[in-house]
Amino acid sequence: KGLAIGVDIGGTKVAAGVVDAEGRILAQARRSTPGNDPRAVEQVIVDLVKELAEGHRIWSVGIGAAGWMDLDGGTVLFSPHLAWRNEPLRDNLQRLLRRPVLLTNDADAAGWAEWRFGAGQGQSRLVCITLGTGIGGAMVMDGRLERGRFGVAGEFGHQIIMPGGHRCECGNRGCWEQYASGNALGREARELANANSPVAQELLNAVDGHVERITGVIVTELAKAGDPTSRELLEDVGEWLGLGLANLAAALDPGKFVIGGGLCDAGELLAGPARRAFARNLTGRGFRPAADIELAALGPNAGLIGAADLSRVSSRMHS
Ligand code: BGC
Ligand code: ZN
Repeated sequence: KGLAIGVDIGGTKVAAGVVDAEGRILAQARRSTPGNDPRAVEQVIVDLVKELAEGHRIWSVGIGAAGWMDLDGGTVLFSPHLAWRNEPLRDNLQRLLRRPVLLTNDADAAGWAEWRFGAGQGQSRLVCITLGTGIGGAMVMDGRLERGRFGVAGEFGHQIIMPGGHRCECGNRGCWEQYASGNALGREARELANANSPVAQELLNAVDGHVERITGVIVTELAKAGDPTSRELLEDVGEWLGLGLANLAAALDPGKFVIGGGLCDAGELLAGPARRAFARNLTGRGFRPAADIELAALGPNAGLIGAADLSRVSSRMHS
């Protein structure tokens, strides 16, 4: 009883799972995100749900997607990394799946899961950041997701942190996610490797000299294995992360930041530098309490767990 399927749709992968009322995952599956076609993404969701629904009694389906939802949760207004433009995704999926579907932002889903079951439990003002293709943001304030007037609050990844800086898929330059995401880590590593620097040798070895194959995941693995250059690259990303968190603390004053998404796999190699940069840039430091910075307890599964949980809560409300 009380089972739901959660689907987390990111810029590179779609992860789905059957989740019980305590946030435990009973079965799981994943695919890579198909390119520039909204219909193809819907089909992947339908396939995953059908596959997972076999042998389980599923009440509802929750979708956490890397896009900007309208307040009503029916339409994806825009997505910097995916093909949705004003897409009525919830109705499309409800028709295809014949089940109640809840649609929410991927980071909101992850933040909700961390507050309910993970590192954010008991927090009255929680800010959650997900680091992957981009940077997602969520705020859980007094036990509810803060979604803003139009549904697009918490788009912290697109705060401009470096005017005139790297171009972002959102159309601007210098967005935070161009400096502190998994993608940013990969881009910096490729740039270093392309500069023919001898310090990039381990990186080049890992991809047999094919620079374009270097990704944030590869840099993270090398860093964990001890490669000093990869550690430096992660440190740089961690510093950008801490700087952005200091800005968010000035605006939002949370008790805790939880850092999730694929890049949190780097653990303390990322969180350490982030904490130091946060402490160094926090306004009024030394004269005010400072928020804790913790890694997500549910890791990369937070998104699908939260999407499933939100769908259970709301299908109960509507029935
Ligand atoms: C998008 C967010 C999303 C985040 C993480 C950002 O680029 O604007 O909506 O939550 O990436 O996927
Ligand atoms: Zn942007």
